[in-house]
Amino acid sequence: MTVESVFPRLEALLPHVQKPIQYVGGELNSTVKDWDSCDVRWALMYPDAYEVGLPNQGTMILYEVLNEREGVLAERSYSVWPDLEALMREHGVPQFTVDAHRPIKAFDVFGLSFSTELGYTNMLTALDLAGIPLNAADRTVDDPVVLAGGHAAFNPEPIADFIDAAVIGDGEQAVLDITDIVRAWKAEGRPGGRDELLLRLAKTGGVYIPRFYDVEYLADGRIGRVVPNRPGVPWRVSKHTVMDLDEWPYPKQPLVPLAETVHERMSVEIFRGCTRGCRFCQAGMITRPVRERSITGIGEMVERGLKATGFEEVGLLSLSSADHSEIADITKGLADRYAEDKVGLSLPSTRVDAFNIDLANELSRNGRRSGLTFAPEGGSERIRKVINKMVSEEDLINTVAAAYGNGWRQVKLYFMCGLPTETDEDVLQIGTMAKNVIAKGREVTGTNDVRCTVSIGGFVPKPHTPFQWAPQLSAEATDERLTKLRDSIRGDRKFGKNIGFRYHDGKPGIIEGLLSRGDRRIGAVIRAVYEDGGRFDGWREHFSYDRWIASAEKGLAGTGVDVDWYTTRERSYEEVLPWDHLDSGLDKDWLWEDWQDALEEVEVEDCRWTPCFDCGVCPQLGLDIQVGPTGKKLLPLTVVDK
Ligand code: SF4
Repeated sequence: MTVESVFPRLEALLPHVQKPIQYVGGELNSTVKDWDSCDVRWALMYPDAYEVGLPNQGTMILYEVLNEREGVLAERSYSVWPDLEALMREHGVPQFTVDAHRPIKAFDVFGLSFSTELGYTNMLTALDLAGIPLNAADRTVDDPVVLAGGHAAFNPEPIADFIDAAVIGDGEQAVLDITDIVRAWKAEGRPGGRDELLLRLAKTGGVYIPRFYDVEYLADGRIGRVVPNRPGVPWRVSKHTVMDLDEWPYPKQPLVPLAETVHERMSVEIFRGCTRGCRFCQAGMITRPVRERSITGIGEMVERGLKATGFEEVGLLSLSSADHSEIADITKGLADRYAEDKVGLSLPSTRVDAFNIDLANELSRNGRRSGLTFAPEGGSERIRKVINKMVSEEDLINTVAAAYGNGWRQVKLYFMCGLPTETDEDVLQIGTMAKNVIAKGREVTGTNDVRCTVSIGGFVPKPHTPFQWAPQLSAEATDERLTKLRDSIRGDRKFGKNIGFRYHDGKPGIIEGLLSRGDRRIGAVIRAVYEDGGRFDGWREHFSYDRWIASAEKGLAGTGVDVDWYTTRERSYEEVLPWDHLDSGLDKDWLWEDWQDALEEVEVEDCRWTPCFDCGVCPQLGLDIQVGPTGKKLLPLTVVDK
């Protein structure tokens, strides 16, 4: 049955909304396949605005992997802004894909990728606009399977009421496996309806179906146990890991946005995983082990991607790009190859050390030399031991001196506040570090014209990390501590004027913490926020702390637990955590030992260069850690942006 495009109805609304171009589709390298010649159809959504969602690599990769398959189509959808949402409701226009403007409800699978928990209310908006019941239990065989992925899906319990399924880990192979199961079930005439399809997915052991697990609570509010309620459903669901990135050179044809987006560049993922062992970093923990793309594979992807898009900047992505064992050859090779075309290179999110200034020079060769951002994360040596960010102040000062000496005038330093065991003194040392950076910059450049900006985020403990048991610092205490730091920086006559200070407030962090470590009881809170008008919670101008707190009081009434219980409470070793039945590959006892090491300020080295610490990931996959030919040690300073 052919599905009609909603575009004629949508088009009439577009003159009345902001940035209508984000809804029209037709981007360079986008794909529209014939509906009737496909038997499995995916709608892929990044639940944020087009400008954030379009550059998302994960969605772009899955879009291409699925569309390459015969008989399978995938289309994209993004969150509509409240102005269009209101008009769509008024005129009965459903949530649509931007590719062929087909209604989401017509697809077999509705896959959403969550980089952050603050996108949950946007999922509810999309479901409601699509005409899909918000509660998974109310859906029929005519509704798509609502599937969550992305880093936030490693604890999907807060959205368990609303999703049918979740996949943890790498999506490339997983979406194809799911496609095969959906196809077979449809070809057999949908036996057993929706329940049977979900059961088939659950039995693979790699797709989590929340309805097939019962959660039992203890009298004190903690979880007693999580039990499968169907025969054949596994006790634990495993993570997906793609081992050879060269076999998955996606995106081959990156999408070129029509409207302005957060990244106007082409990205190539140069490796996945990280073994630095920063204890706060969920991405580093859940993406183990390290898997490098080969230098030739990277070269081919850059060449093909630039030809396909016309972009003038290439981002070499990973969690710490300077750690690729052949990074020097990669950056030099690319800078040489594209010197004439003025193609800029950037390493968003990487680490650099003093000896690596050559790398920074290569990166800026064809582009700007505006600012470097390093992420020491903690202000004092002591707290950096706690978080296992092995960098000394001396390393940082040397790096910064080299940067100033090589022409940079602006350095940004990124820190977190509210780390476990942190005191006021640890945070005040951030100011001392910034002053030392300015002093060194003045000395090296011989001018006063150097700047250092200190940017601070509130720490949020995350599942599947050694800090998953840690108490989160309250918003009030975080704000108080940072006010002291700000005053000490501003009050400094010698350096204060050259130091910028960026910090907003601790409230959004508490809500992120509630959603990150929440269980199924948080579903009622998310729903209450959505019903009260909550949208785009990741956007400061839309986020309302008061709405979340009022909704939490309403949603958690009668449960005996509250926001503090989920956020500022320390967990014990015995406690069953809401995500324990989702297997990230990390051994829980290893995480606990690492948490104890943190409390004792004991550091653990990077297992790329040292013997294995038995985190559990590699043996479970039956492999040795994958690294390239060199064993050169790099110091852990993060270049977040160039
Ligand atoms: S199993 Fe060992 S080598 Fe593999 S990631 Fe964990 S600590 Fe590193």
